[in-house]
Amino acid sequence: NLSDRLNATFKKLKGRGTLSEKAIDEGLKQVRMALLEADVNYRVAKKVISDIHRRALGQEVMESLTPGQQVIKIVYDEFSTMMGSAHEGLNLGNRVPETVMLVGLQGAGKTTTAGKLALYLKKQGKRPFLVPVDLHRPAAIDQLKKLGKQLGIPVFDSTQEMKLGDICRAAEKMAGQEGFDTLLVDTAGRLHVDDGLMAELVELKKMLNPVETLLVADAMTGQDAVNIAGAFDKAVDLTGVILTKMDGDARGGAALSIKAVTGKPLKFIGVGEKSTGLEPFHPERMASRILGMGDTLSLIEKAQESVDLKKAEALEKKLKKNQFTLEDFRDQMASVRSMGSIKDLMGLIPGVNKKMISGLNIDEREFVRIEAIINSMTPEERRSHAIIKGSRKKRIAKGSGSTVQDVNKLLKSYTQTMKMVKKFNKGGMRSLKGMLPF
Ligand code: GDP
Ligand code: MG
Repeated sequence: NLSDRLNATFKKLKGRGTLSEKAIDEGLKQVRMALLEADVNYRVAKKVISDIHRRALGQEVMESLTPGQQVIKIVYDEFSTMMGSAHEGLNLGNRVPETVMLVGLQGAGKTTTAGKLALYLKKQGKRPFLVPVDLHRPAAIDQLKKLGKQLGIPVFDSTQEMKLGDICRAAEKMAGQEGFDTLLVDTAGRLHVDDGLMAELVELKKMLNPVETLLVADAMTGQDAVNIAGAFDKAVDLTGVILTKMDGDARGGAALSIKAVTGKPLKFIGVGEKSTGLEPFHPERMASRILGMGDTLSLIEKAQESVDLKKAEALEKKLKKNQFTLEDFRDQMASVRSMGSIKDLMGLIPGVNKKMISGLNIDEREFVRIEAIINSMTPEERRSHAIIKGSRKKRIAKGSGSTVQDVNKLLKSYTQTMKMVKKFNKGGMRSLKGMLPF
């Protein structure tokens, strides 16, 4: 997979300094190959590569990551943003009923997906109503009726002889009477995009005024799915896409390109023939699937979050020499805080058990206060805290919007920490995580 290939490419390089252009180009060769293998739209691939190149160039290699991991992270971020960053669900409004129209080619999975969405909505406490309007194929209406029966979801009793307009009006009226809040309209498809089909869908859309117009497309068709999305979007202005058959060996190219090409979000993916085979689409998960990383990712994230080992070592040296100033105290606190809540962090300290922490009442705002106080000191005061006496304390308190008492409390914390650290030092402290006085 791509993740392994990137790692292999960067193995030869040492994790120092900035990412060199040569190194990046080597890595991007792998990315380009992987994108083409995944059947990603050519223009999209080109843009991704140049974006990644721009982002990677001159970026400092984090101490805790190898250049390979760093590039994987950049590629992962780029893929995720390309696909939309976060899951976008159905945007249902407050009208009763709201209408969701499913469009797409024949065999894409519209009818199956209509059933899946109905079940999904039912589980959320909604009252969906399935409406078959594929009047071209006799079996189409029956297929949805059968599905509805299986799922215990009401289906409008459409027949082939009815007119589209009549079905829409009658279904809306019935929904109002029965209290169905969401119409799921299963439209007709064709084997190919054609004018007749589009004209019918445009007419339907005018009659239904749907809150969502979702394209159902077969992920196995790769680039075709993207082209189809473009054509449908032009005709009926889609609000989103559902890619079906992602349980097969679809290569992810369609998922990766659809948003970039059409600007419309991928909202769900179909992952099986059964009615439960529908998943909300999560860009990050798909990015990690395309990269084939899984565990690598959490590893990278952990490394990113953790305090830089080198910095920690430098601090340790300072501590040993008693040069750990209030400034260092503040910086250390900030870097620890950036890793998560204090409770979470305390859980990482060996010997501290979860029960002890849960009983603690930790005020995270305390840290903001401490930072403000230290920021109000002069550099000299931060370096030698012993000079902070009466009038200085007053000035610092005023400058930071706190009281002299607060300043005293901080100075006490700091000196206590120093004492604690010295004790730790004797035992050979490796990490500074445990040095917080709270
Ligand atoms: P429609 O013509 O667009 O209404 O397509 P159908 O809903 O009738 O589905 C066509 C075929 O695709 C059926 O055999 C479905 O079982 C199958 N299908 C639909 N969605 C999925 C999916 O997510 N995964 C798999 N494996 N098959 C699917
Ligand atoms: Mg159908």
